[in-house]
Amino acid sequence: MTDEYTIRCALIGSPLSHSLSPKIHTHFAEQFGMNFEYSLLDTPTELVEDTIRRFFAEGGRGLNITMPHKDFAYNFCKQHSIVSKTTRTVNTIWLNNDNNICGDNTDATGFIRDLVHNHNFDLKGKRVLVIGAGGVAKAIIPTLFVSGTDFLYIYNRSRYRAEKLVERYGNKRAALWDPETNHETFDLIINASSASLYGELPPVHANILAENAHCVDLVYSMESTIFCDWAQENGAARTWDGLGMLIEQAADAFEIWFKRRPETRDLYKQRYALLSSD
Ligand code: NDP
Repeated sequence: MTDEYTIRCALIGSPLSHSLSPKIHTHFAEQFGMNFEYSLLDTPTELVEDTIRRFFAEGGRGLNITMPHKDFAYNFCKQHSIVSKTTRTVNTIWLNNDNNICGDNTDATGFIRDLVHNHNFDLKGKRVLVIGAGGVAKAIIPTLFVSGTDFLYIYNRSRYRAEKLVERYGNKRAALWDPETNHETFDLIINASSASLYGELPPVHANILAENAHCVDLVYSMESTIFCDWAQENGAARTWDGLGMLIEQAADAFEIWFKRRPETRDLYKQRYALLSSD
């Protein structure tokens, strides 16, 4: 039951029917006994600005922004976190004390928290390959550098997008990975592309896996993804999907809105319930 005291948060994007955010944020709010509601606002691009402004005018506390509006919503924020400025995207917005709309992108921090804290992966000195050059790749790459990566390779289906990303960091920090001509092995391979959603594998071969290779697919699903299957079958030491990142980026957003850090461990244990559609 909601009433005038209900704290309201919501997600803006389209389509949203499969979003796990209501379940995740409701779980967090229950930890603090909050009278809380999290809604899905399926919104076409032309209504994003109106929807954001109306939400806050009506007393809403915090918004998440998802595909395809992460870039567009950036324009309506008056203040941006460093990650948000770097990526020119937002996935979390709120009002500050001066009623200015502020934006952050917690995808990057959520990814690193899952990698470093939940999976104990130390990035120092590790050889890293990032597959994909879309929004999420752009968000996580700067955070990989900040967290200990000195140099990484980037591959993307459309080569020019990977080239643009490599240019952004310069050849001392990044290089294009060409599956035909490069023969490096990697300690960490991050599939930040949507390929697994379509049951497709990037052009990866067993010989790119270092002895103790870790492979992460940012796509998540009830079943293991095709990329995680490939990694396991070819001897990767550990593989995992993007559910942990999703949970941690939500926890980061919750902490921004409410200055309280929710416990996330329980949600990992409820993976099946979280991913089932009921
Ligand atoms: P974008 O649409 O911005 O980029 C999509 C990327 O995937 C591009 O690099 C694109 O390559 C590539 N791609 C798409 N289809 C294929 C394919 N069939 N084969 C190979 N590459 C392909 O999406 P995002 O970067 O925002 O997200 C990428 C994926 O990451 C999403 O599918 C989403 O599931 C996941 N994600 C997970 C999150 C989490 O919390 N776990 C958070 C955000 C995203 P090209 O340039 O050639 O089109």
